[in-house]
Amino acid sequence: MKKSSRSKLPDIKTSIFTTIGNLARQHNAIDLSQGFPNFEADRNLMDLVSNAMHKGHNQYAAMPGYFGLRETISGKIEKLHRRYYHPESEITVTVGATQAIYTAISAFVHPGDEVIVIKPAYDCYEPAILVNGGIPVYVQLDTNGYQIDWEALKNKITAKTCMIILNTPHNPSGRIFSKEEMLTLQEILKPTNIIMLSDEVYEHIIFDGRQHESASRFPDLATRTFVCASFGKTFHVTGWKMGYCAAPAQLMKEFRKVHQFAVFCVDHPVQRALARYLKNENHYLALNAFYQKKRDFFLNGLASSKFKFSPSEGTYFQLLDYTNLTREPDEDLAKRLIVRHKLASIPISSFNLDHRDDKVLRFCFAKKEETLERALEILNRL
Ligand code: PMP
Ligand code: GLN
Repeated sequence: MKKSSRSKLPDIKTSIFTTIGNLARQHNAIDLSQGFPNFEADRNLMDLVSNAMHKGHNQYAAMPGYFGLRETISGKIEKLHRRYYHPESEITVTVGATQAIYTAISAFVHPGDEVIVIKPAYDCYEPAILVNGGIPVYVQLDTNGYQIDWEALKNKITAKTCMIILNTPHNPSGRIFSKEEMLTLQEILKPTNIIMLSDEVYEHIIFDGRQHESASRFPDLATRTFVCASFGKTFHVTGWKMGYCAAPAQLMKEFRKVHQFAVFCVDHPVQRALARYLKNENHYLALNAFYQKKRDFFLNGLASSKFKFSPSEGTYFQLLDYTNLTREPDEDLAKRLIVRHKLASIPISSFNLDHRDDKVLRFCFAKKEETLERALEILNRL
């Protein structure tokens, strides 16, 4: 092949969410695979967008985002995590968390740089590292409770380590990193110049009275971290692709050099609407209880099934261990469940190092109760 058309990502395949989602639609299956709600967002939020359009906010927003929204985000983070990010220089509104993640990686990862990725990992990190010439270096969480081996992580740090990516609450395991774990990570990174990318898109989906330990709460982590967040997840509007990123000014300056030429700015009327909607903190603080009810409904319904599980601590995903049912590979079972039983889930091996198959499937419970009921009927029949 001509050098100019040689793939930069020869080993990257179509995302598991597209593959499974397509199969689910083809077989008319109940879809608990990709993470998105199947209920509507708040009408008031939609009205705010429509009002913003009618008021004429239909041209480009400011490059880093509508200032009023950045101010509100800054206030929210300060109130929740006691860290002040200057709205002028330390917050940028992005096309979902995905663009924030891609942009932060593009701005800092040079060819040959190493980036530590904790597996199982959400699927957008690795391609972003590779396309920028970086080298992903993996630390695999253990099978039992998805705990991290901090010694192993420490041993992966070399002179070439440029970045570490953390995701809490964690997709797909549904666990959250505790204060002690964040402090341990802070200690490990202290003598280094490593930048951290903290993917916190499920920051408001935390259960059983736990606390979201944002990287912004830990002073020495915060000075080296991009915190990435998603309005899509928090306000049930994944299709709007709206998110933001907060980081100290010297990091954000570099981030914006890429951002301004990749997208320049993001959807203006939606930013106006979010700025107003975000002012009522109940709109995000009520989310924990809202999703905990769904998690509990789903898990109570599985009490006498053959599946083993430990309740998700955060996110809207629940892992189910199916070893009492069958020993077949998770991808085979996920496909068989769609084709034969009309229920879609995500096989976890696709997020693990070397496709380690723990015999667990991931189910998204961000669904109407009637959808969860129909899914439970199928799962209990197995
Ligand atoms: N990170 C994680 C862990 C996710 O699950 C997702 C999926 N939405 C994203 C990032 C991407 O977020 P967004 O849809 O806002 O781009
Ligand atoms: N974050 C969603 C999930 O984990 C998927 C989003 C996507 O398809 N890229 O299910």
